[in-house]
Amino acid sequence: MFETLSDRLTSVFSSLRGKGRLSEEDINATAREIRLALLEADVALPVVREFISRVKERARGEEVSKALNPAQQVIKIVNEELVEILGGETRQVRFAKNPPTVIMLAGLQGAGKTTLAGKLAKWLSDDRNTPLLVAADLQRPNAVTQLQVVGERAGTPVFAPQPGNGVGDPVSVARESIEHARRNNHNVVIIDTAGRLGVDTEMMQQAADIRDAVSPDEILFVVDAMIGQDAVNTAQAFLDGVGYDAVALTKLDGDARGGAALSIRHLTGRPIMFASTGEKLEDFDLFHPDRMASRILD
Ligand code: GDP
Repeated sequence: MFETLSDRLTSVFSSLRGKGRLSEEDINATAREIRLALLEADVALPVVREFISRVKERARGEEVSKALNPAQQVIKIVNEELVEILGGETRQVRFAKNPPTVIMLAGLQGAGKTTLAGKLAKWLSDDRNTPLLVAADLQRPNAVTQLQVVGERAGTPVFAPQPGNGVGDPVSVARESIEHARRNNHNVVIIDTAGRLGVDTEMMQQAADIRDAVSPDEILFVVDAMIGQDAVNTAQAFLDGVGYDAVALTKLDGDARGGAALSIRHLTGRPIMFASTGEKLEDFDLFHPDRMASRILD
């Protein structure tokens, strides 16, 4: 992830090395190169435009520092603007005053929701929480079993419709899970919802119904970073159809060009809260904009 972007930016900056002072021409040429590098990385055009205009404005501005040469100065500006576009501060989980804290996951099928549910459960348990996983994806025949497998690996109990009670409906399961969590001292409830291969109204409505039934403290939109520009379109569709508080980016270990990570925050106004970087339970953490920017500029 980001390797091409990273390489491209490194070569842009190296061409500035040794310059005593940046002319208007240098700044424009550099901005053009950065623009191309971002577009190549699949960053959405409006985001690229805004980014470039800020970098240019600052590079032309009075930020002359005696300690930094022009190349270092531009790197510093690009770094700060990357942090900004990635969301600035690390977004922490907002716990409810009265437990359980309800976290609902929404996203397309295959985005990595179920895997992420397990990772989140383990991550929370490692921090002395007592989560409960809830199988509210009753669309796919295998979804409940898959969550049970994930739960077992994470050492987290799974609340699912009881056999014999029919398939159950996801809204009731979600609602009952809150009661179950209260009775059994689970301080966090993680609800895995159904996804489809593409955006569809029935799926959105079901997610919205679950949302209305349990009033989540956090709705996380889970999105596969490898799907490029589609990630942005899907993010917008879920924002309109369900709404969410933050984004969890999955498959950041893949050969994605990074466009989704760099575009989503700016276009949706929602912070990226979690990053998933592999199939193992441990490949997961809060998303840190400053660390991500450093990796890009490494
Ligand atoms: P869901 O349909 O949204 O619940 O998606 P799943 O959790 O079933 O994940 C779909 C596929 O993506 C599975 O094969 C997962 O192992 C894989 N996957 C999930 N997260 C990651 C990740 O961060 N990196 C990689 N490489 N694969 C992932």
